[in-house]
Amino acid sequence: MPPLPRPAAWAQPLPEAAPPADMAIYQLPTGTYETRAAFAVQGGSFRDKRHFAATAILVHHPKGDLLIDAGFGTQLATHVATLPRIQRAPHRAKRTVSEQLDASGYDRSRLLGVLLTHSHWDHVSGLGDLQVPIWINSDELHYAAEESDGNVFRSVSTGHQIHEYDCNGPSYLGFPSSFDVYADGSVVVALAGGHTPGSVVIFVTVPSGKRYAFIGDLTWQLDGIRRRVERPWLLRKLADSDPEHVRQGLLRVIALADLVQIVPAHDRNAYEGIPRLPAPIP
Ligand SMILES: [Zn+2]
Ligand SMILES: [Zn+2]
Repeated sequence: MPPLPRPAAWAQPLPEAAPPADMAIYQLPTGTYETRAAFAVQGGSFRDKRHFAATAILVHHPKGDLLIDAGFGTQLATHVATLPRIQRAPHRAKRTVSEQLDASGYDRSRLLGVLLTHSHWDHVSGLGDLQVPIWINSDELHYAAEESDGNVFRSVSTGHQIHEYDCNGPSYLGFPSSFDVYADGSVVVALAGGHTPGSVVIFVTVPSGKRYAFIGDLTWQLDGIRRRVERPWLLRKLADSDPEHVRQGLLRVIALADLVQIVPAHDRNAYEGIPRLPAPIP
């Protein structure tokens, strides 16, 4: 399979962003699960075992903090057991987001909620350990309420406040609509759809001016960006609500790859340079 045609690189000015000086982001890796590259990206080898990351991001912002996705939670084994057999991969759990926050002496009252890239089990498992609002758009909420892929979401979201937001802001870096969370351009959610109907790309700009795109599962590995390849045909059929829409989103982020650090949720290497949560000050 040839790669996708190379999209023209983004040539317009980057959208304005004015992150406050004390804004920062941290990565919270909660574990991995094993997948063969052959099942992850076109042209991947069967012998090439990949350890898919389940990593959450903490956005620290003076107006209140947000987590991007929730990683694996304490009920991981129960969640994996609910999956169709074909999806149950060997997994390794590390400390949950909740445990990592406590270990760093984090003040939970700072948390506004968990902003989801989408509602699949490997992004929401840790919600069960976090009593904070779930930030989700209506397309994703409907999907998670009705589809079998929403089983884990439905169980972990019980008792959580749902903070439903709309992506009704202007187009953003090639995506048709957006939601500027803090109204300062530091965290902008763009509706991508495709993988699930309400899948989003979360663009983050930190005070140094560095930009990130947390793209959820638009592609599972950086190979998808670097080699411009989609998931293998069967996996597109199984994993994506609308594969054509996923391709569109993938091409949009490939066009940004020289300007923005693209972070596919499940590629451990994509998080390079993002610091871990600091240890508590003694
Ligand atoms: Zn997914
Ligand atoms: Zn995923």
